[in-house]
Amino acid sequence: MPYNYNFVFGDKNVQVPAHLNFGQFMLEHIRQWNDQIAIENADTGEKLSYKEIAQYVVNLSASLTSLGVGRGDTVALGSEKHNEFVPTLLAIVLTGATYTPYDLKVGKASLKHKLSVVKPKYFIYSNKFWLTYSDVLKSFDCIQTYFTLEDNSEGVVSIKSLASKYVDVDLFEPTPVQGQIDTAAVLYSSGTTGMPKGVQLTHLNCILSSLPSNFSYESLQTVFIFGVWYHNYDTFMTYKFLTKGKKIVYVDNPTPIAILKTIELMKVNIGFVVPSFFHYISKNDEVKNYNLDSLKIIYSRASPLHIKTMEKVKERLPKLNYIIQGYGMTEAGELSSECWGDKGTKLGSVGKTTPGLILKVVDPETRQVLGANRRGEICLKGPVFMKGYIGVDPSIYLDEEGFFRTGDLGYYDEDKYFYIVDRLKEIISYQGHQVPPTELETVLLLHPAVKEAGVVGKPHPEDDELPTAFIVKRPGFNVTEQELIDFVVAEVPPYMELKGGIRFINELPRNPRGKILRRTLRDMLLKEQ
Ligand code: AMP
Repeated sequence: MPYNYNFVFGDKNVQVPAHLNFGQFMLEHIRQWNDQIAIENADTGEKLSYKEIAQYVVNLSASLTSLGVGRGDTVALGSEKHNEFVPTLLAIVLTGATYTPYDLKVGKASLKHKLSVVKPKYFIYSNKFWLTYSDVLKSFDCIQTYFTLEDNSEGVVSIKSLASKYVDVDLFEPTPVQGQIDTAAVLYSSGTTGMPKGVQLTHLNCILSSLPSNFSYESLQTVFIFGVWYHNYDTFMTYKFLTKGKKIVYVDNPTPIAILKTIELMKVNIGFVVPSFFHYISKNDEVKNYNLDSLKIIYSRASPLHIKTMEKVKERLPKLNYIIQGYGMTEAGELSSECWGDKGTKLGSVGKTTPGLILKVVDPETRQVLGANRRGEICLKGPVFMKGYIGVDPSIYLDEEGFFRTGDLGYYDEDKYFYIVDRLKEIISYQGHQVPPTELETVLLLHPAVKEAGVVGKPHPEDDELPTAFIVKRPGFNVTEQELIDFVVAEVPPYMELKGGIRFINELPRNPRGKILRRTLRDMLLKEQ
């Protein structure tokens, strides 16, 4: 590959342990922190210390190995959130097998699709999961053995009993793996463009995504995470902070109020949230009823945030030191973050390239590599990038230089800080202008009466597509179509105005991670016509 001055490199000095065994990497870190609390359910107060996790993980791993679980096997875990979720995943990895996680809310159709992609040999389920999905599970012949997370029942062996068979942590030997080849985990792509794909992450990928960042968290001890450990964001942020000996807290149902209560009650210092929480804080006076002084850093990822929203959040939380935006995806973990910014944080930017990665921005038409401040498709390459999608030919998603096409439209500035504009495929074309719907949504969300906003293009015979907004109003607030159209006019260039008008609806269609399903909105507009 010829060197190109427009490639943007992350720090090239990345250190990984030579064994390249992700389970071993995590166990070595976890053992250091002994009696400190590692995970706590803020609703129930149930907690696990690092020592308890280390013991659980080696006991369970040794038991599973003795039952034949090992390299080449895939073990699925289906359960609601609880403290043993992450330790069980680590125990599976230490057997040399691959884990694949499902949340209780996965849904029958989605579970069916995901199981048909990954074909697990073993399935560990909670009672609630079995009650909800036993008919789906029974239709998969590939599953040869079940384990229950609760007590032994009807001949099904319990994980609890396996994890209580004592093994000396000092004498425990993880199953050797080929870290650059063996798949440690299969997660799923977000499915906003077609059915979710199985993303195979090697041990090396997982280690790189779990390396502690260089950001100083010294006195900050308690970290809030949504606790959806089927998703890469929560999973790898949990691993990262476990390597640092922090306390991870979560709630069963992370509504904005539940998160605020948890921040106050548990004196949370670092919060990993998604943009909707920022919108909530920026608009709701209830925030003033909570003491949020302990909160020093809030980290956001998943979709763009408007600078004005961030400024409002800063106003409302004067004790907050940083709002950090990251940019990441299941296929490659975290691609960039303001943690890596040598010029501090820049509001609106998702920061600089993560160590070990190369990013480039290419013209979507000509595939020419672009320089600073030019919008194009972000592409990436590096050891953190997945082994591949299950059953998909890499030529479909890699370009001629072996870079992964993210499908995200963005650019970097003269200091190499990145900015995400939108998903390439979702850009609205109005009279030849490119209109990023996400930008319009972030503007609409600044209006006090707007709870949710989804923007799509309405097909038009002369103008290509007219930007059209679907709006969910905040309860107790009223606003007219014209008021919102005028509000947007004041904030954007003329070609971005909402020429297709506004539709008020009760709820926006979203995928399980909260991403707007714009395809469904477009279908709603087509039906109108
Ligand atoms: P997932 O694989 O579910 O983590 O989704 C990855 C996608 O989320 C990326 O390809 C982006 O489209 C989007 N995304 C992640 N972080 C950001 C961000 N900070 N700003 C805008 N979009 C983001």
